[in-house]
Amino acid sequence: MTIKVAVIGAAGRMGRTVCDAVSQAEDLELVAQIDAGVSIEGNLNGAQVAVEFTVPAVTEANVHALLDCGVDVVVGTTGWTEESLARVGEHADATRRSVIIAPNYGLSAVLLMSFAEKAAPYFESVEVIELHHPEKVDAPSGTATTTAKRISAARVAAGVAASPDATQIDPEGARGANVEGVHVHAVRLRGLNAHEEVLLGNPAEQLVLRQDSFDRTSFMPGVLLAIRNVMGRGGLTYGLDKVIDL
Ligand code: NAP
Repeated sequence: MTIKVAVIGAAGRMGRTVCDAVSQAEDLELVAQIDAGVSIEGNLNGAQVAVEFTVPAVTEANVHALLDCGVDVVVGTTGWTEESLARVGEHADATRRSVIIAPNYGLSAVLLMSFAEKAAPYFESVEVIELHHPEKVDAPSGTATTTAKRISAARVAAGVAASPDATQIDPEGARGANVEGVHVHAVRLRGLNAHEEVLLGNPAEQLVLRQDSFDRTSFMPGVLLAIRNVMGRGGLTYGLDKVIDL
């Protein structure tokens, strides 16, 4: 059965990439491309699933409008809060529709976070390195911060001691950021896009987990997975890790 898909924010960088990916998928049909200035109501052209990649200022209003139009929604736009997520969850329940919102549709990044969380309690030391293009304005990256928090929570839950570290003198901040007890190092280097490593160390052994996103097409397998799994889920699903059966 073909799933009819609308893309909201279709002229944007991610929107264009989603339109290409949907058009190339045999089981999906691109039926609507909606951009700023075009109302959602009346322009969905029979879509069953809408994919929303716009800007944080409008994404919540778009999702409510889409739910009112009776479509299921896959959202990639960032900037969600606990409150806005709760409102969308309630609306999805009330309209008996389904919404998937994921801050990262990169399968390699989502899997790396999960693997790191699972491995973290079994190693004495763990550190995170995130590597990005030099235009990125924030550090550490949201994904690296989330990775560190999940590692930290897993270690606390397992009763594992803090990573050993004898550093007493570090006037230049060479040990990086300390995110809930996990050191995170940010590299900005021309030629890179978005990459992350988790280093885990025990006496005489090391595990290195690494993921590389070379361009925004890296998000498309995750977006297509969400499109194919959103219908019939019910309510709000936050995070692609909830969609992948690990
Ligand atoms: P972008 O190139 O600026 O695209 C955003 C598009 O949304 C623009 O074409 C914009 O149109 C349009 N837009 C604005 N208001 C709209 C409205 N009310 N209705 C419909 N369209 C509207 O940004 P991007 O790089 O594609 O990123 C989009 C979002 O995705 C950002 O929040 C980004 O952080 C996020 N993102 C998420 C992931 C993930 O894995 N979850 C990955 C990459 C990016 P105008 O230019 O005419 O205003």
